[in-house]
Parts: sequence; structure tokens; C-alpha cells
Amino acid sequence: MNTLYAEDTLFLSMQAESILHLSTPLFGKVMTDTHADLAGTILYLSSHTQEPLPPLHHVYAIICTNKDPRFEIIKLQDAVPIIVVASDVVFSQGDVITISERGRIHRNFRARSQNNAFLVTESCNNLCIMCPQPPKPQSMGSHESIEQRILQTLELIDNENFPATFCITGGEPTMRKEGLLRIVEGISVRSPQTLIHLLTNGRYLSNEHYTARLAQAGGHQLLAGIPLFGHVSDIHDYVVQCEGAFEQTMAGLLNCYKHGINIELRVVLTKVTVTYLKALAEFICRNLFFVKHVALMGMENMGLAKLNRDTVFIDPWEYKDELSAAIEVFEFYGIDVRIFNLPLCVVNPDTRPYCKQSISDFKNSWDTACDSCVKRESCCGFFNSSTEKFWLSRHIKPFVAV
Ligand code: SF4
Repeated sequence: MNTLYAEDTLFLSMQAESILHLSTPLFGKVMTDTHADLAGTILYLSSHTQEPLPPLHHVYAIICTNKDPRFEIIKLQDAVPIIVVASDVVFSQGDVITISERGRIHRNFRARSQNNAFLVTESCNNLCIMCPQPPKPQSMGSHESIEQRILQTLELIDNENFPATFCITGGEPTMRKEGLLRIVEGISVRSPQTLIHLLTNGRYLSNEHYTARLAQAGGHQLLAGIPLFGHVSDIHDYVVQCEGAFEQTMAGLLNCYKHGINIELRVVLTKVTVTYLKALAEFICRNLFFVKHVALMGMENMGLAKLNRDTVFIDPWEYKDELSAAIEVFEFYGIDVRIFNLPLCVVNPDTRPYCKQSISDFKNSWDTACDSCVKRESCCGFFNSSTEKFWLSRHIKPFVAV
């Protein structure tokens, strides 16, 4: 499986090759335009340009490579921290980053991306059997510093870079309770037209008072992505490994409807859920007809999905007929359905129009067979967690021109 070189990944987290004069952690906006006002910013010098150096005394730090022809001159100044990175690390004007005092760089916001997301917690009250990022316990102090950093990041984003959609993810974001409300409100106040895509298991939204406040904080720009894994509690509760979760999620969905929060209902396609997929589609159409759309999602081979592979993994080719049958039900009831994360060659022809290019660029990869495929431009490809060992399908076959 080939992972495309992502020139500018969103969740960049990397170690600088070396650091000079850096004694405290840094947080700030990246500037690449040396003619702009650089005061209080982190200047990124691309080694592709050889412009004369601007005045450097007001910048927080300089990021450069040791291949930069100006490197010897840069090293001469000793008033500003210098962060030396590999030449394939790229920043864009308007990125917001942190740099630890040991030179670890994290990107909080990527100005060029349409896939910006805030990870607000790694804790979760579910333990889904196919969870790609198993939850971790987190302290109150760590939650508070995450919230602070998100609110500060929002302040630093330039108006022209504010994305049409901001995703809030976790863990389970509602475990931040009041903190989540402040973050949602922060985005809404900063950019009222931005869609806030909140990925939640919906259980805490069974608290109607909280859901009403969340709706208000989001200013009618909230889309809650909520998973439902079965048409009966036994299946859903088994998948999320929590008794009573189905009842709470159902109550949460109804509260969202009542308080004007749009819903993207998410079904992850596993060996467990595809067995009852048509029954789930009928349940959704009869009881949750108000959802904005339904997303049927191919599974990501990471975390617990790898650990529980025998229980959860199924080649998508084997459930293509169940998928077609479920789509037919949604079509019949007039509910918008989308297929995420499944390559075009492993679904039936009647399913292909519903498939979306859903895999974020920083997670996307391709099979060598894709090189000659005429549908590659409209196919989502694979998660880069699909490998020789953790393959997705034995039925990958390029489409040829007719
Ligand atoms: S062969 Fe074509 S349809 Fe199949 S995964 Fe590759 S690009 Fe997609």
C-alpha cells in the first residue's frame, strides 16, 4: 500500500532536528511572508526561497532547515530561538503551532486544510469493539490546558483562513461538559457561519437541559455525528461495550431533534453490524426519520479494530449485497444516505453513486492496483492503516476504460 506524500499534514507532530536558544515552550501563528508584520509570530523560512532575511528581533522563533543557503547567517544571531527541521516538513502562512522546549512541534490548526479538527479529550464513556483510538484516562488539569489552547488557537486564526467546517472530536467530547460548551461557543462567536461538526456518542445528550444549552452555544450551526450500531439495545450495547447506552443515545437523538441540532447518524460497518444492516435501516427510517443524513462507514483498521480483528473484520466485498439492500430502504423512505471509506471496486454498481471521498488527506493511501484505475479520481482509496497484514479487501481491481 502506498501512502501519498502529504506535503502538509494536519496533525503534524514531529521532533525538530536541532534547536538553538530555545528555553521556554512557544505557541503562535506561523508566517511565511517575510514582508508582512512578523511581530509576535513564528517565522518559517522555506529553503526554496533565497530572499534576504527580514529584521528578526520581534519574531518568537525561526523555523528553517540546515539546507537553507542563509543558514550560517541565521545561526549568527542569538536573540531568537532557531528550530531546525527536515526539509520535507512544510508549514503554511496562518498555521498555528506549539513548540515544546525540547523542540517537539505540534500543529493545532492547518490554514490550508479543509479537515481541521480539535481533539478535546481522549477520555470516553464507551469502549467500542472497533474503536480506532482507544480512550485514555485524562486529568482535569490536562482538560483545562487543552481548552485554553483551543480558545487561544481560535483567536489566532486569520479571518480568511477560518474553515467552512470545524470538527470537534475525542474521545467523547461531552465528557468535557461545560468545557465543550465553551469551545462550541468560542467557534460560533469567532465565525458564526462555520459548521461545527461534533462527533459524539450522544449518550450525555440524553440530558435535555445540557442539549438545549449546546444547541444555543452552537448558534444553529451544529451537526452532531452520532453512531447507532443496532436496531435493538443488545447489539448497540454490545458494540459499545456498555449496558444502557442504546437507551441514552436514542434519548440524545430525540433531544437533538427537539432543540434543532442537525444529526448525521453514523453506522460503522463491521462483521457485527452488517448482519443486521437492513433491520437497522428500517428502524432508522421509521423512528429517526428526522436525521439529516445517514453515513454508512467502512471501518478503520486501527486500535481495537486490530486487536479484535476476528470479531469485527469482514471484507467489504462480502457485505456488498447487504449494503445495496440497506441503501434501497433509505431511498424508499427518502433519507439521504452516504457511504464513507469504501473503495468503488468493492461495492455493487448501484452503491457507487453514494460513495464519498471521505478519507482525510493525512490518512489516505492507495494500492498499487489503483495506479491504472480510471476511477481513481472519484474513489476514496484506503486508510493508511490498511497494510499487507491488515488488508481491507482481497477484491481490489482497477476499472479500465471502455
Ligand atoms: S482500484 Fe480503483 S476503485 Fe479500487 S480502490 Fe483503487 S482507485 Fe479505488
